[in-house]
Amino acid sequence: MTKVPDLKTTLPGPNARAIIERDRQSVSPSYTRTYPFVMARGRGAVVEDVDGNVFLDCTAGIAVAATGHSHPEVVRAITEQAGKFLHMSGTDFYYEPQVAVAEEVAKIVPIRGSVSSFFANSGTEANEAAIKLARHHSKRFHLIAFLGSFHGRTLGSLALTASKVVQRRGFGPMMPGVFHAPYATCYRCPVGLKPDSCQAECLGFLEDQILVQLVSPDDVAAVIVEPIQGEGGYIVPAPQFHQRLRALTEKHGMLLIVDEVQSGMGRTGKMFACEHFGIDADIVTIAKAIASGLPLGIMSARSDVMTWTPGTHASTFGGNPVSCAAALTTIRLLRDGLVKHAEEVGGYFLDRLRGLMDRYPLIGDVRGRGLMVGVELVRNRQTKERATTERDRLVGEMFKRGVLVLGAGPNALRFSPPLVISKAEIDTVVDVFDQALRTVEPGT
Ligand code: PLP
Repeated sequence: MTKVPDLKTTLPGPNARAIIERDRQSVSPSYTRTYPFVMARGRGAVVEDVDGNVFLDCTAGIAVAATGHSHPEVVRAITEQAGKFLHMSGTDFYYEPQVAVAEEVAKIVPIRGSVSSFFANSGTEANEAAIKLARHHSKRFHLIAFLGSFHGRTLGSLALTASKVVQRRGFGPMMPGVFHAPYATCYRCPVGLKPDSCQAECLGFLEDQILVQLVSPDDVAAVIVEPIQGEGGYIVPAPQFHQRLRALTEKHGMLLIVDEVQSGMGRTGKMFACEHFGIDADIVTIAKAIASGLPLGIMSARSDVMTWTPGTHASTFGGNPVSCAAALTTIRLLRDGLVKHAEEVGGYFLDRLRGLMDRYPLIGDVRGRGLMVGVELVRNRQTKERATTERDRLVGEMFKRGVLVLGAGPNALRFSPPLVISKAEIDTVVDVFDQALRTVEPGT
């Protein structure tokens, strides 16, 4: 894989077409494939499809492959563990890799004091565990989440998710007891203010209406929040939003659950995104990048909150030993340089993208932290009319030119490359984005 991108066939090539046809016959049509990329292999931020076409990956498999595709040290750790045992179930037995991950996570997770961790397999499962723990510990029933949030698709976490109606349509009634408040979407401020001078007045709806007219604060078990909204459009709130929210939860004895499933594990240039806002949590949920691509979800909580007794919650596969081996290496690689690298190249990436704004009025906003980078597309910068079809076309144009990106929210593009991406690779991504932008006029 020397030249990147390197497209040898029209897309999709013949091998990809054949697999996609087989997929169409036998795989659930509920998945949201936006273009026909069929993976054969990958290394770092470079991926090759089944026809030998080489792409730069700015998705990391939805913000998962933080250490890059098949990092040799992760592969070695997985192989070593696989040679010892693949499974024993941490629900009924003990094994050292799971304890070691819990110890490592306790050192890095933004929770004050002693920390205890529950092991699952995915983000949604980590959030299910958080919901159950919050209710079980507090003996309270209600939960507060935010509009635009994504917390998963199983029936508990789906009740918290408020990202796209297609995710909820046809699945009701939702789990009761959930209220949604406006998020600090500062580019489209729900109360018409500017982040520099506001005091997070968007929280007024929660404080003065939800908690006054709909639910008593002492009936609320927890507030769950993404520090930076992911699926909702890579939305970075003003820091005062998180600080005021934290103060509110402390005032009313509500637990604060911070969902770091997408924003965590170094993606934003800090190990956890909520560190950017100077807040700590009572419960943190982690998945995606923690095991560099193997399934693992973790729900960490203050030890004095995680007081549930044997039998209350468990999972056969949660904390799989091979996934734990991958997680231990992932955490070490992140700590030994990748978090810092994400901060440095992420800043460079944001600057380069902002440099395109003069030439392309379609770009309404460039935002992010580290390598969690979003570009919101608008038909008109004054009205901020959402350029949804233009966004979809841009995603396709970039694929045709050998760069994989995904949408987020109705009209944003997200760049979430493996954290090992180099500056030179970022230059290529920006050049391809520039070429793609030339082909898409606002309103077309
Ligand atoms: N929470 C957040 C913030 C996410 O971005 C996602 C997935 O995109 C989830 C939870 C659900 O994770 P999973 O797909 O592993 O269930």
